[in-house]
Amino acid sequence: MFNAIVIDKPEDKQTVALTQIGEDQLPEGDVQVDVAYSTLNYKDALALTGSAPIIRKYPLTPGIDFSGVVTESAHADFKPGDRVVLNGWGVGEKHSGGLAEKARVKGDWLVKLPDGMSLRQAMVVGTAGYTAMLCVLALENHGITPESGDVVVTGAAGGVGSVATALLAAKGYSVAAVTGRPAEEGYLKSLGATSIVDRSELEGKVRPLNAERWAAGIDVVGSTMLANLLAGIKYRGIVAACGLAGGMDLPSSVAPFILRGVTLAGIDSVMCPKPERVAAWERLAQDLDMGKLADMETEVAFDQVIDAAPQFLDGKVRGRVIVPIN
Ligand code: NDP
Repeated sequence: MFNAIVIDKPEDKQTVALTQIGEDQLPEGDVQVDVAYSTLNYKDALALTGSAPIIRKYPLTPGIDFSGVVTESAHADFKPGDRVVLNGWGVGEKHSGGLAEKARVKGDWLVKLPDGMSLRQAMVVGTAGYTAMLCVLALENHGITPESGDVVVTGAAGGVGSVATALLAAKGYSVAAVTGRPAEEGYLKSLGATSIVDRSELEGKVRPLNAERWAAGIDVVGSTMLANLLAGIKYRGIVAACGLAGGMDLPSSVAPFILRGVTLAGIDSVMCPKPERVAAWERLAQDLDMGKLADMETEVAFDQVIDAAPQFLDGKVRGRVIVPIN
């Protein structure tokens, strides 16, 4: 028997508990892993609180990511002792996930941890950091360089935003960090932000176009914020959009696209093909200042995760929330 958080829905109401289950209750898969660390992501908080229909199969262990060590494998690419990381693929949504001492998954979903990155560091990065890297890669693939101009990052004090800010700064970009928490200015500057933009500046009425302000953007907020970002992007710039922390809608117009040739790049980390994941993790190991990573982390004990989830949704959490499991 081992410890696991289990979400169930016996009748109409969802129940959540830290409990003990057996290996026979693990889902199908060709690789079994002793989970070392998991994390609390926005999606996990939604699942744990039942505030959005994230869980699509009951009973289920949440946790959309984990790092750990392989204990059993019938997959050609993995053997016991391999250090691995998992992000997405519906794990923690329709296949039991990382908030348990053991996980069983498809080997095709796992990425070997790059040398030089610890199991703990991998989860400080977590799905948020890996998504931030996918966003940065989208900007680079579009031809954006530090010489192109400032890059704006929204939700900068959150998980994706913190890692995006640190990654861009490490590559020499000027980062305009958008936050609703002025108290986090010192933290954002320590990650490498060159200027701070108050969230309220980008929450007002959306005009089709504003003055050309940024060469590119990374957006985790959506809605009015994303619309205002698009209106302020320079000619032929790009916004990588990955989140909806402010809403699902997009009250924009086609003006940025047809008059300025702006590109809106959608970023999905969940079903992202494996070669891109491997490349993203290699770049994270290479580019991310591990000292800065330490400043981003908040630790929540495994037995405190259920209580911590509502606070996460209030946007009160800085950087990344890591959960030591084993
Ligand atoms: P966090 O909660 O850590 O960060 C979100 C940040 O957004 C907050 O810290 C806050 O930043 C800002 N924010 C929150 N609410 C609002 C609001 N109403 N209006 C404006 N800004 C707001 O979450 P993550 O960084 O982990 O995830 C961010 C988003 O990205 C989520 O929507 C998540 O679902 C999505 N995501 C998508 C992925 C994908 O594959 N596409 C993968 C991972 C995440 P501040 O306090 O600095 O203003």
